[in-house]
Amino acid sequence: AKAQGRRCWRVFAPGLRRRSERAHALHRALSRAVERGELTLHYQPQVWLDHGGIVGVEALLRWQHPELGAVAPAEFIPVAEDSGLIVSIGEWVLQAALHQLRRWRDEGVPCPRVAVNLSMAQFRQPDLVARVRAALQAADVPPQGLELELTEGVLLHDAEAAQATVRALRALGVHLSIDDFGTGYSSLAQLRRFAVQRIKIDRSFVADLPHDAEAEAIVDLIVMLAQRLGLETLAEGVEQPQQAQALLARGCRLAQGYAFARPLPAAECARWLRAQAGA
Ligand code: C2E
Ligand code: CA
Ligand code: CA
Ligand code: CA
Repeated sequence: AKAQGRRCWRVFAPGLRRRSERAHALHRALSRAVERGELTLHYQPQVWLDHGGIVGVEALLRWQHPELGAVAPAEFIPVAEDSGLIVSIGEWVLQAALHQLRRWRDEGVPCPRVAVNLSMAQFRQPDLVARVRAALQAADVPPQGLELELTEGVLLHDAEAAQATVRALRALGVHLSIDDFGTGYSSLAQLRRFAVQRIKIDRSFVADLPHDAEAEAIVDLIVMLAQRLGLETLAEGVEQPQQAQALLARGCRLAQGYAFARPLPAAECARWLRAQAGA
């Protein structure tokens, strides 16, 4: 067994070490990314499926490192979350997104709202509500201009405290949505207790529309549940017109995805928003 253990160690350790070295390197680089100006935001439009009107945009982080190149969010967000860096990075995202919305409003770019992803560690900050209020004031954006995207996990952890935070954010006037809906735990119970406005149907269900009976059943269930609870549903990852049609037919009225626009740099997104609004 020992010999086998040693062999396993030899076989797997180099890979493991490489992985943790990479995570280490990413962490080191990421800790300076904000001050070095390596982070930017791209914006992905969200639209009404029936008439194409603009609902808002989702701010999505991009990281361009001088040596590592472009690092995908799927790789660096977990590193930021595990290390706690996500709190300061997320604070930067909130401020940058709100300032972008302010600039767009000043320039007459039609964008009602910007949606920002909020990680667990951010959500659990005791002074989160004060930080959000301060960021809105600094950018001179009314609370209705901001949507915060929470995941089911955020709501599940310490549900009492989470409920209080959700209530306080709603009292402030910001919009709340549950991201990646259907992929987490105990979704149904959470929905009743948390006063969010919107559910984002996870891309994995949308991907299998329109001809997969199980995906259809799940989307039907989510939409029906949302309607009964008075919530909006937004489908993410809509890539094809047929998916958009299937969603609309099933009562989902909002969408986001490559079928409409990819996440775009601010200037390109502004052009897209103006063209879409016919302005
Ligand atoms: P998410 O919040 O679920 O964001 C949607 C992801 O789907 C984005 O990936 C977006 O580029 C991608 N996407 C949009 N439309 C389509 C489509 O039609 N087809 C496909 N295949 N993909 C589509 P991205 O930008 O790589 O971000 C990945 C994840 O990283 C996000 O998933 C979110 O969980 C996290 N993330 C990104 N920015 C932030 C941030 O500022 N803060 C936090 N906490 N997390 C962020
Ligand atoms: Ca999101
Ligand atoms: Ca999502
Ligand atoms: Ca996701």
